[in-house]
Amino acid sequence: MIALAVRVARDALHGSSEPAWWLVDPGAPCHDGAMAKSVDLAGGSGYAVEDSRLRTSPPDVLRLAGEPLPLTIPGRIYVCGITPYDVTHLGHASTFVWADVVARVIRMTGVDTILTRNVTDVDDVLTRAAAERGRPYDEFGLTQEYFFDRDMAALHVRPPTHAPHARHHIEHVVRLASALLAAGAAYERDGHVFFRGADVPGTVGLSRDDALALSSEYGDRPDDVLRDDPFDVAVWHPAATGDPAWPSPWGPGRPGWHAECAAMALATLGGVVDVLAGGADLAFPHHAYQVAMARAAVGATPFARRQVRVGTVGLDGLKMAKSTGNLVLVSDLLRGTSGAAVRLMLLDRRWNEAWDYRPNALRDASRLLEDLYIAAGSRGASAAAVIGVRAALLDDLDVPTAVRIAVEEGGDAARQVIRTLALQ
Ligand SMILES: [Zn+2]
Repeated sequence: MIALAVRVARDALHGSSEPAWWLVDPGAPCHDGAMAKSVDLAGGSGYAVEDSRLRTSPPDVLRLAGEPLPLTIPGRIYVCGITPYDVTHLGHASTFVWADVVARVIRMTGVDTILTRNVTDVDDVLTRAAAERGRPYDEFGLTQEYFFDRDMAALHVRPPTHAPHARHHIEHVVRLASALLAAGAAYERDGHVFFRGADVPGTVGLSRDDALALSSEYGDRPDDVLRDDPFDVAVWHPAATGDPAWPSPWGPGRPGWHAECAAMALATLGGVVDVLAGGADLAFPHHAYQVAMARAAVGATPFARRQVRVGTVGLDGLKMAKSTGNLVLVSDLLRGTSGAAVRLMLLDRRWNEAWDYRPNALRDASRLLEDLYIAAGSRGASAAAVIGVRAALLDDLDVPTAVRIAVEEGGDAARQVIRTLALQ
């Protein structure tokens, strides 16, 4: 498979006499040779300039979630972030490392990115965790965020462009609720604003029973008799006594979870995002309602051009989750190994693959990383191999193929992988 990828890439190069300037800087915006050529802009008058913005062949385009994602402006990525009430486990880390790789591969094509990773700091679970420790929810959340940011830095995850906190976007949720009411997509009842969600399970292909089970599991209360339909969800609701609350046209209260993310995405990235990312377990209800609310408020279809839901990480056959205590903590792994090795372990698979953590997976990743470093130190500089690496990454982020080409071919191909995937 690797040999085939390299051969295809070699064929694409049309022989070795082609100027291979991009070997000097494989991460540059274009690799079609236009950058180094003189371009006659004056119709043959002899006046020529060199302009790196001009091309003679189409630019690279990332194929993501099975389809090309052409970008004409900076790629807008929204990744659903943490609820800061506990430490970071490997399942979280996997989501944020993959979102980081989406952005890095888009930048490899020469297109900038704007990445929003929110902080869900208005949430029952955070309020409870803070109360148990006798601390204000916002102060407690900030402490947890510090540990999260430290883990992300150790895993070479680039800080997001925007890190909106739900408590700073209450006004945007109120505006979202007002827009949904005006559009007839929501209704007010006893201090609540409910989004009409009867058709939302169908948008993600879920049966009614499966959707009901998931709605209950994630706290959407489909059995609440206040609602017209079990799949209506709260955009705004009154807060329980003692919980954080803000004024609104419908009385004091707080946003619903899905509305928070819809509002923060609209506020920081506009009416359409290029990539909506998060863990696989966010597909329903969270992402389905976030998308439905944004679409209903803005009218843009689709709200998210591509959706990247990163495969669940398990331990001993069970999903890794704080609620079950079935966890591997990033901070524990980093005591015995490098952030780059943990990162490679997370990435050496397809992004939507569910997998089980095993200690020997980390050992294998450490060895593979060592092989990659050795390969990067070699002089091997096959132009076809570099093209093969880029082609693999552009093909729905096929990291395993890119890494194996890099280890096999070495030189610039290995350095390209290390640089693009931030494995240094
Ligand atoms: Zn979210």
